[in-house]
Amino acid sequence: MKKSEVKDLDKASRVIHAGGHPDPETGAIMPPIYQTSTYVQSSPGVHKGYEYTRSHNPTRTRLEECLASLEEAKYALVTSSGLSAEMLVMHTLPAGSTILCGDDVYGGTYRLFTTVFNEIHNFIFINTTDLEEVESKIKEHRPSLLWIETPTNPLLKITDIMKVTSIAKKYKVKTLVDNTFMSPYFQNPLSLGADIVLHSMTKYINGHSDVVGGALMLNEKKVYDKLWTLQNSIGPSQSPFDSWLVLRGIKTLAIRMEAHQKNAMKIAKFLESHPMVEKVLYPGLKSHPQHRIAKIQMSGFGGMITFFLKGDIKKSKKFLSKIQIFSLAESLGGVESLIEHPAIMTHASIPKKTRETLGITDNLIRLSVGIENVDDLIRDLENTFKIIR
Ligand code: PLP
Repeated sequence: MKKSEVKDLDKASRVIHAGGHPDPETGAIMPPIYQTSTYVQSSPGVHKGYEYTRSHNPTRTRLEECLASLEEAKYALVTSSGLSAEMLVMHTLPAGSTILCGDDVYGGTYRLFTTVFNEIHNFIFINTTDLEEVESKIKEHRPSLLWIETPTNPLLKITDIMKVTSIAKKYKVKTLVDNTFMSPYFQNPLSLGADIVLHSMTKYINGHSDVVGGALMLNEKKVYDKLWTLQNSIGPSQSPFDSWLVLRGIKTLAIRMEAHQKNAMKIAKFLESHPMVEKVLYPGLKSHPQHRIAKIQMSGFGGMITFFLKGDIKKSKKFLSKIQIFSLAESLGGVESLIEHPAIMTHASIPKKTRETLGITDNLIRLSVGIENVDDLIRDLENTFKIIR
């Protein structure tokens, strides 16, 4: 299909066809893995757009085309990890910049900002779900960038992207949204006013827990050129094989996301009615504090659930070590169900006091609901509750 024809397709078709034209040389329906570091030139400086794989690679280009289409962006840049994408964004800002950042971001993002880039920039952590706080902190600090994660990891707090970006625009502040939890299938922050979208492709976009990768999508050529130059100069480009794996995984993004959310909704309701559960956080539940915003800005509620067990750390640890189908592991967004303890695992780099203030307590458990049979998953949870009772 021609690029112009793909543009008009539904997202469920674009995941398959965007960046997916047949190989012009052989007609191969799947893009080849251009496992090459360099490209032959016909005379010095004369080439076919590819000189060196750190700079460009045809397999990666296909993935970038697909991602740009899914986020409705003009440009996409694929990186070696979500964190390296974050690093590139930080390097686009002049030294001494102020960044207002959500207070409940992924632990690795928090570590990157507070232990690496804190030497170069100033970071102020705020509750981006509170519009008054956002406006007053922007007025007070005049930041260069507002960094939002929505829904957040692990508390699944939801920021009203349209309202927050319109406040930021009033003060000429750029906004970045980490869209990892929703994937481009359920949420498109650029169309809600954001300037840059970031993904850890390691999660839903790839979906098979076999690749680490990141991506940035945006519409402004000047910023894209800066990001690409930084990537080429610093070097965190994704390997052709990993880009190919993501291209393979992304083809089922639509059906995976639908299956994740269908299972998650059923599990969230099961947990909410369970006597050993104190509280459940899932954007699809009416009890979620920002359920109304979720319904407006997301086209689905995703596969992540956070719940609070009735009991202490000992009980949480026992639950996590006894559960069978859910694997005890960091990460999320794969076809298999995962379970983890943020205070000990993914968010251990956040100081205990800060974690407690945010509500990342010792009885908080995070589920990445996979696409297995949901009754098997519920039975697994039920059996584990019985064991720890
Ligand atoms: N953003 C979010 C929301 C994440 O959950 C993660 C990783 O868990 C990252 C960014 C970092 O991505 P990566 O692990 O691919 O470097």
